[in-house]
Amino acid sequence: MSDSQRVWVIVEMSDGVIKPVSFEAIHAARLLADSIQGSVEALCLSHEKPDQTNDLFHYGADQISVLKNSVFAKFSLELWLHTLVPQINEHKPYAVFLPATTHGKELAASLSARLNVGLATDCVVIEAGAQDEVIVHRPVYAGKAISHLTLQGSGPHILSLRANVFRGPGPDLSLNGDVVELDVPFSGGDLLLKIREVVKEAGKNLDITEARIVISGGLGMQGPENFQLLEDLAQVLGGAVGASRPVVDNGWRSYSNQVGQTGRTVQPDLYIACGISGAVQHLAGMSSSKCIVAINKDASAPIFSVADYGIVGDTLEILPLLTSEFKQVLGTKSDR
Ligand SMILES: Cc1cc2nc3c(=O)[nH]c(=O)nc-3n(C[C@H](O)[C@H](O)[C@H](O)COP(=O)(O)OP(=O)(O)OC[C@H]3O[C@@H](n4cnc5c(N)ncnc54)[C@H](O)[C@@H]3O)c2cc1C
Repeated sequence: MSDSQRVWVIVEMSDGVIKPVSFEAIHAARLLADSIQGSVEALCLSHEKPDQTNDLFHYGADQISVLKNSVFAKFSLELWLHTLVPQINEHKPYAVFLPATTHGKELAASLSARLNVGLATDCVVIEAGAQDEVIVHRPVYAGKAISHLTLQGSGPHILSLRANVFRGPGPDLSLNGDVVELDVPFSGGDLLLKIREVVKEAGKNLDITEARIVISGGLGMQGPENFQLLEDLAQVLGGAVGASRPVVDNGWRSYSNQVGQTGRTVQPDLYIACGISGAVQHLAGMSSSKCIVAINKDASAPIFSVADYGIVGDTLEILPLLTSEFKQVLGTKSDR
């Protein structure tokens, strides 16, 4: 098999843990590789071999390369480019997949510029085209239209993938392969920038695109102070707090919380929509959640048309009741 039939996935980690969106990227790479009789190779830049390395095989990787150096403990664009550009130039894979996260998008754009090759960001459909082309679909104009692009030339084609779109059927534990561990040398002089510390927004650790439970608030929450009610429930359930766009536009929550067409796409096991009307632009970001619960005082609100369970009432009264009930139920279970 030639190098040009390889689909590479640059694995993204947070605090040494592989992000779920990287498993989605492996699954998407598997689909593309199968259509060209190619292979999937995952590249992890890490200070040590991640505990979940073998899980990448279960999602479809044929080979995993762990490129190790203590400096890889924290993401730095300069470091990643310094390491990946020569690797890609040497091996010339057919395509390089990255998650469309903050780091992934920055890295994808920089790789494309450094390598002088085509880039498509935020892809939701990826197919092999004629010869070495790749055809992708990606939302544009705040999701109002879908652009169909063909990346021409011999590549490598750089693609970033929207989270929660390429989930696939889940891991196949029978799949395995080879892990190559490689120590990457660095002299201090190689680096212009040193990341000394990463400061996370206090209390907002869980990314809504990765949380299994998302509790979102809309204008029906009445004001930013009432989002504490959502935080309380999220803490009891181990979930993350999301928001509708006007909530973000009003400055009640940050943009990273926004669910919908112009925000994030989420697909949690449980999505609780509180005081959200259910406009089509909001539904675009959450309607594929496994179970949807809506709380709204207007029984005719469109959100109820996608909800599995609906509660008609004042969300400011219902949320504390739910939190206290879940506290009791989950507390009782954990005592057993
Ligand atoms: C191009 C474009 C892109 C957009 N992208 C997005 C996007 O990404 N995400 C997004 O969310 N929106 C997006 N929007 C906006 C979208 O059209 C809606 O305006 C928005 O989703 C409405 O937000 P909301 O449900 O919080 O507010 P509203 O529509 O005002 O609904 C508030 C709801 O709260 C209920 N309510 C009020 N008080 C209470 C109470 N005490 N208890 C219970 N229920 C109560 C009301 O009955 C109502 O149903 C976009 C719009 C456009 C044009």
